[in-house]
Amino acid sequence: MSLLTPPVETPVPDFEADEFRDADDREFHLVLLDNGRMAMREDDQLRETLYCIRCGACSNSCSNFQTVGGHGFGGETYTGGIGTGWEAGVHGLDSAREMNDLCTGCSRCVPKCPVGIDIPWINTVVRDRLNRDADAGAYEFLVDGLVPGERDDDGGMPEADRDRDGQEGNRRRLDRQKWLFGNIETVAKVGSLAPGVANAVAGSRPGEWVLETVFGVDPRRNLPEFADETLREWYGSRGSRVRDPARDVVLYPDLYTEYFRPERGKAAVRALEALEVRVHVPPVPESGRAPFSQGMIESAREQAEAVHGALVTHIDGGRDVVVVEPSDLAMFQSDYEKLLPDASARRLADNSYDVMEFVYGLVNNGADIAHLSTGDETSVAYHSHCQQRTLGLEKYTTAVLEDAGYEVRTSDVECCGMAGSFGYKREYFEVSEAVGQHLRDDLGDCEGERLAASGTSCQEQLRALYDRPVSHPVELIAPD
Ligand code: SF4
Repeated sequence: MSLLTPPVETPVPDFEADEFRDADDREFHLVLLDNGRMAMREDDQLRETLYCIRCGACSNSCSNFQTVGGHGFGGETYTGGIGTGWEAGVHGLDSAREMNDLCTGCSRCVPKCPVGIDIPWINTVVRDRLNRDADAGAYEFLVDGLVPGERDDDGGMPEADRDRDGQEGNRRRLDRQKWLFGNIETVAKVGSLAPGVANAVAGSRPGEWVLETVFGVDPRRNLPEFADETLREWYGSRGSRVRDPARDVVLYPDLYTEYFRPERGKAAVRALEALEVRVHVPPVPESGRAPFSQGMIESAREQAEAVHGALVTHIDGGRDVVVVEPSDLAMFQSDYEKLLPDASARRLADNSYDVMEFVYGLVNNGADIAHLSTGDETSVAYHSHCQQRTLGLEKYTTAVLEDAGYEVRTSDVECCGMAGSFGYKREYFEVSEAVGQHLRDDLGDCEGERLAASGTSCQEQLRALYDRPVSHPVELIAPD
């Protein structure tokens, strides 16, 4: 019996009973039921599931499982963290569908698994396979042509879209919600052409109706507003203010910093410049996190290749890559291993840094922290991003803030509950809110404290929980 399988009544044979006598008259039949395990062994992506010893650690670290609980999370036999892999292998894809959607890819299960299974990757693979089997929606014409589709390496039909005999069947499409969130870069580019109009439309009743009815966006959530000026527009008119730099870096203009929250990107530029670093903000595509999180692996791979192509020339030129958004840094440092050739993934992973980690490195190598804004013992309630914790980077933010004079309290909960697009989805609003409540209970009322979070979605969740401004940590140390 384990946390992942229910107790069963197994009769204990009585070898003294009459039916076991006269062994010479009996035949022995051994029947092995592998329940799909041989097929899982042959499946390059699901094979790791078989390493599972069913200790339950992944379920105990999963905020959504801890909130929903038991088989309410989904699954016929298996549930919880690794349940998706088991259900897909033993019962088939449909049986894994419900709990697969409840995985936000927060990655907090990864360091907890004693046999090192990459559970989020297995969930992403299953989501990708489910997407390819999805029913076509009635409103697809609204997004058809606006967003890239999924295709295999040679431009043909993905393997999952072929019949058992290898014939290409009718190509099916992703559902509208996943198309929207998986292609949010396209939406952001269009919206930022006329941010005032886009914000007014998204906030209007007809706009909310379309977002809810067509795309499944919960109207109880406030969508982030498009900024009047993107980070790159601001930087383009301002340029670098460091004439004799100690170092040169690239600030990765992630989607959320570029189009929705440029203040934190500006703060990163000012903080780095105060420490004599010349910052470049080149055009670089979205990291692929958005399609990856929706199970659109081929689209994520294309994005990863484009990002690598855009950044590697800077790395070759001796520039480090500094990243503000933790979920994008996690793509560079971890998820690209699955999407790029080993050498390309390694090169980007070895040369990319969280912005607060980079500041920590500068200060510990002689840069003067007095050039940054000081905290004057202001208390900060800080929630680190889940993927940032998995990468072991939370400590750098805490150390820099404390060195700058802040008193820092950190949350102990694994995930804020928003987790990218998860909290915006109509069917998961209540789960997201309930997980968020654990964070609020953990941090308390935060009276008189500054609120800080590293991730965009963590900031949105904290804003919703406290109805107060929430800063990225780099905004707390950036000089005016
Ligand atoms: S933590 Fe690892 S070994 Fe334990 S149940 Fe989860 S996947 Fe299996």
